[in-house]
Amino acid sequence: MILMKDIVRDDQKGTVLRDYAAKVSFPLAEEDQKLAHDLMEYLEVSQDEELAQKYGLRAGVGLAAPQVNISKQMAAVLVPSDDEEDDTPIFKDVIINPVIVSESVQMGALTEGEGCLSVDRDVPGYVPRHDRITLKYQNVEGQTQKIRLKHYPAIVCQHEIDHLHGVLFYDHINKDNPFKAPEGTVFFG
Ligand SMILES: [Zn+2]
Repeated sequence: MILMKDIVRDDQKGTVLRDYAAKVSFPLAEEDQKLAHDLMEYLEVSQDEELAQKYGLRAGVGLAAPQVNISKQMAAVLVPSDDEEDDTPIFKDVIINPVIVSESVQMGALTEGEGCLSVDRDVPGYVPRHDRITLKYQNVEGQTQKIRLKHYPAIVCQHEIDHLHGVLFYDHINKDNPFKAPEGTVFFG
């Protein structure tokens, strides 16, 4: 099981966090199947308050392979339901070789800014991203999925895909004015 000690932090020198990750081939090798499982397991356990406390995990909605020191194009995403009546996650899958095939001109950002399991400090500022995206990826079975996402899950997926390209969320924050976002940006979260 992945624990906090296994997660690469951005202040460690020469980490894979800044590398462009390699494509994954199908059918998935056994080690890649295990990686997919372990990444999603971390998110599930971390979102369970009791278990998170037991294992000392920071809650996460996304975890990318480079964050556990494996430079491959794979990330788990688990955006939990915000509906009390229905606990079906808003989005849950392991996205492999993901590509954003189209994106809205409209930008979106989280009011509270973003955080990352690989970044131990708060980095204040808006992280402008595309409000809506069309995402193409392969699931663990190797089936190509093409889905449209908006708002929060779209932001989470863009954050995770950045990890596969060596980009961290604070790279997007305006250096001169961290709370300046492009005109027309919608805020939520
Ligand atoms: Zn992150």
